[in-house]
Amino acid sequence: MTDEGTILYETPAGGVARITMNRPRQRNAQSVRMTYELNDAFDRAAQDDAVKVIILAGSDPHFSAGHDLRDRSSPGEHRTVGTWSGFDLAGAEGYLAREEEIYLGMCRRWRSIPKPTIAQVQGKCIAGGLMLAWICDLIVASDDAQFQDPVVQMGVCGVEYFAHPWELGARKAKEMLFTADWLGAADAHRLGMVNHVVPRAELAAFTLAMARRIAEKPSFALKLAKEAVNQTLEAQGQWAAMLAAFNLHHLCHSHNMQVHGMLIDPAGIRI
Ligand code: ZN
Repeated sequence: MTDEGTILYETPAGGVARITMNRPRQRNAQSVRMTYELNDAFDRAAQDDAVKVIILAGSDPHFSAGHDLRDRSSPGEHRTVGTWSGFDLAGAEGYLAREEEIYLGMCRRWRSIPKPTIAQVQGKCIAGGLMLAWICDLIVASDDAQFQDPVVQMGVCGVEYFAHPWELGARKAKEMLFTADWLGAADAHRLGMVNHVVPRAELAAFTLAMARRIAEKPSFALKLAKEAVNQTLEAQGQWAAMLAAFNLHHLCHSHNMQVHGMLIDPAGIRI
């Protein structure tokens, strides 16, 4: 196991890498630093030809509480991966660039890694945490896993990586957004967002066994099977729709900045 600060990197079986977010006291909230260390870990797994399947996990007790809203450090302090810059410029120019780089761009990048990825989700998976689960190809959840996007109550129309309608169907996506209610593992499974629900004590072993089974398959066919499904989503307009939603997300941020002097409505901060 390698300790890369906020991330643990392991190869628990032949052909399998496991990347674990390791900020348990912050409930694995995604700081800027963790974003780049997570990106480095994904790159390491992607570039290692011996790795065929990647598991994304979170240290107990919860998978992820979302973005670390207290962390206002700049992406410019890191080796950025997109082409946006000007993260510290005034107004929408700065915060649009920031979210293009560390939220939408990173999620798009990780979602496109040409190797199967499996999210191993336990406990709470909130807002930005949902994004981390959704960019994976498969999701295995413990029976106590709960999913939530509460950002409408913060004056924003959904998280930056707007996959809700694709993951849940339009009607349940709207309910999740409008109510900010928790979506339990069983309902997430019924709706097709989660592949398998298992007892929490069996989560890691079940996920690893699944990864090992996948890793026995030919790597090129795995890569192209993933590409074929992702290209189907592209043909259906998924990315264009997500970009449109991201623009609306930033209309919300700009509105909140004008009305409240901050990116979100402070009345909605209760997590
Ligand atoms: Zn945002």
